[in-house]
Amino acid sequence: MNLNELYQQVILDHNKNPRHFSTLENANHIKEGYNPLCGDKVTVYIEEKDQVIQNISFQGCGCAISVASASLMTEALIGKTVSEFKILFDQFIQLLTQGGEQPDLKKLNVLGGVHEFPMRVKCATLAWHTTKSALEEDVHVN
Ligand code: ZN
Repeated sequence: MNLNELYQQVILDHNKNPRHFSTLENANHIKEGYNPLCGDKVTVYIEEKDQVIQNISFQGCGCAISVASASLMTEALIGKTVSEFKILFDQFIQLLTQGGEQPDLKKLNVLGGVHEFPMRVKCATLAWHTTKSALEEDVHVN
C-alpha cells in the first residue's frame, strides 16, 4: 500500500467513524473552533487532571480532513501530559507545513499529505489549535 492509499483509507475511515465523537461529562476544558476558509466547526472537550489529558472528545461538523484529523488527535492524546501535547502540536504543525515524517506522531503521519494542499492545512490543524487554546484557558468549573 502506498502512502496515498493509506492516507485515503485512514481519512475515510476516521471521517466515517470518528473516534471519541461525543461530549464529555467531566470535561473541565471546553472550546469551540471554527475554520472560516472551509466552514469546519469543532468543539473539543478535555478532562484534564494534574496536567494529564485523562480524556478528550470532540463534536462538530466539517470536511473529511477536519473530522479525521480531530478523530486521530483524540486517539493520540488520551493519557498524554500537557507538555507532551505541546511537543506533538509543534511536530504536527511542522508535518503539515513541511511534510516529511515525524516518528512521534505515529498514525498522524497519514495527514502529512495535506502539506501539498495549503488550502487544507487549516482543516487539519483546527482541532489542534482548539485543543491548545482549551488547555491554555482556566479550568472550567462545572
Ligand atoms: Zn475543511
